[in-house]
Amino acid sequence: MHRHVGQFGIGLNIEHRVTEEVLRENTLYPLAQALGRLALSTNYTPTVRWKICLQCVIEDIEKHGTSYIHRRNLLPAITHCSLHATPLHVKCPSCLEPITIHKLSNFEKCRNFFPKTPPTFRSSHHMFAIFVSDLLSYNDKPFISKAVDHRVFEKLVATLYNGDYSQAYYNIIIDANKALGARIRSNRLEGISLNACSILAFLAYQTSEAYLDAMTNVGERSPRGFLMSSRSTKT
Ligand SMILES: [Zn+2]
Ligand SMILES: [Zn+2]
Repeated sequence: MHRHVGQFGIGLNIEHRVTEEVLRENTLYPLAQALGRLALSTNYTPTVRWKICLQCVIEDIEKHGTSYIHRRNLLPAITHCSLHATPLHVKCPSCLEPITIHKLSNFEKCRNFFPKTPPTFRSSHHMFAIFVSDLLSYNDKPFISKAVDHRVFEKLVATLYNGDYSQAYYNIIIDANKALGARIRSNRLEGISLNACSILAFLAYQTSEAYLDAMTNVGERSPRGFLMSSRSTKT
């Protein structure tokens, strides 16, 4: 990352860098960048309905001495662990306390009573969890929302609706909700939330590689300005 640290700007710059690092490493910020939701989605750290993967809790305690809340599970539509492909829990299955208020240290005891759940590797829920988890390591210029919405919609129309725009327009949200058991309430496709956009981008492209490939491959018919800052201004 390139920054000019001027004589008078050092304090400010360090502060800015720390803030961005914290955002980048601990929050949904990189996902919002990758999906063009920076201006629309200001909440990078949801504080409700935290979820855990039981296997992750057990492994985290064994590996690190403590469990923690993984940001890759924060998005409302995420229902499965990207690593273990098992369902996430909003309540501790041992003591029934909501994870949001559950003391991390209490998992030491609670984990002994966790039920075993078989994984569903490569299910749509699992693939979606991988898609989101991958985009959390996105570390490049943010895409603009209009460009993301446009590309994702075009791709969905082509792949799911045989090029029928009106079919797509009326059914996309309903079909997206069906596919992942999600609850997107929006009835318009512009300015959708980070959660809704993640689902639609996943349905359109399936993998983070395919999505990023489509977004960075600016063709002739694409709208101008896919990236927030022009490539020609890079120093
Ligand atoms: Zn897990
Ligand atoms: Zn518990």
